[in-house]
Amino acid sequence: MSQPIFPGSTIGILGSGQLGRMLAIAARRMGYKVQTLSPERNSPTGQIADLEWVANYNDLDAIRAFARGVDVVTFEFENVSSEAVSAASEFTIVRPGGHVLHTAQHRLREKTWLEENGFPVAPFRHVSTVEDVQAAAKALGLPIVLKTAGFGYDGKGQVKIDSLEDIERAVASLNGAEAIAEGFIKFTREVSVVAARGTDRSYVDYGVFENIHRNHILDITIAPGRVTTATMKCATEIARGILGKLDVVGVLCVEFFEVADGELIVNELAPRPHNSGHVTFDAHVTSQFEQQLRAVCGLPLGSTEQYRPAVMVNLLGDLWKNGTPSWGRILEDPGVKLHLYGKAEAREGRKMGHITVVADTIEQALAKADSIRTTLAPQLRTKH
Ligand code: AMP
Repeated sequence: MSQPIFPGSTIGILGSGQLGRMLAIAARRMGYKVQTLSPERNSPTGQIADLEWVANYNDLDAIRAFARGVDVVTFEFENVSSEAVSAASEFTIVRPGGHVLHTAQHRLREKTWLEENGFPVAPFRHVSTVEDVQAAAKALGLPIVLKTAGFGYDGKGQVKIDSLEDIERAVASLNGAEAIAEGFIKFTREVSVVAARGTDRSYVDYGVFENIHRNHILDITIAPGRVTTATMKCATEIARGILGKLDVVGVLCVEFFEVADGELIVNELAPRPHNSGHVTFDAHVTSQFEQQLRAVCGLPLGSTEQYRPAVMVNLLGDLWKNGTPSWGRILEDPGVKLHLYGKAEAREGRKMGHITVVADTIEQALAKADSIRTTLAPQLRTKH
């Protein structure tokens, strides 16, 4: 085990979105310096970092130069090539290791790894042609979901197939990309476990978060999730197993479908902090970002104790349609915490920020979240 990387050292973040921004805030708070590298200028992370490198992830010379100046490299974005990870590893410590990214950035590799290691996944087939998808539909039964194997997030590169007639159009929409066909899961709930593992193999998690999506994008997270002890136990045991087997050093989120009480299917792994874990920034002793920092620096992991029940609501670009939302009105409630990511352009579906509502009970937090939503955009109220 290598020496801990103490405050005063420099953290290198590959990627520059809101996840990196919140990691940079946590790192700055603890006295670390921060550098970020991505193709973006004046990025959410760059606004907080000491230094913002603007380069493509496949510019290996830039990655090497970046790695030379930092004490550890970590990620806020997993779609970085193995070549880039190897280039960074020539000069500094990279956590989590390249093998974690390699597995989690590609659905086919991820699902195959999960299945081979005995973790529950939806039945799937590797497909590339219309004939493959027809055969998969026959084997798995309709409906199925077609997903690109690489570089997918928030439901992008994903299409549901309800009838055999849909197949040709669905395959055409892939533009030749490698894909998987997956059985459609009639879930009762979507939940996630955000977990962390240290260099000493210590493990912590934040229990179960409950997630409600709209248009395939996370809309709200309820913490703790409204699940039974059996589901809680099953989810956290699976998460612990995955982080251990994958030998993760850092934070990893496991997304699940709950199909019955205590019965879960793993949907996806994110080898970094996750949108559902944003709630930890305001509601827990140690945020998922500080936890990532502690894990990749080889420090002891922090307490995951939750102070108060909380609900996180994503703020998408849609809310800016008629100008800047009226923050004054929502901040009238002292239990509401506002986070904005410093993005200049508010596009539809773009994650611009989030709010966390803390209250004495989940029901109260949900009611407040609902009333805030009504203030911001009445048409966007969510059923829960
Ligand atoms: P993903 O990009 O795989 O996380 O999927 C985004 C969302 O699409 C999930 O959170 C689910 O709401 C839905 N979804 C994905 N795969 C399936 C499936 N096999 N069955 C049912 N719903 C799915």
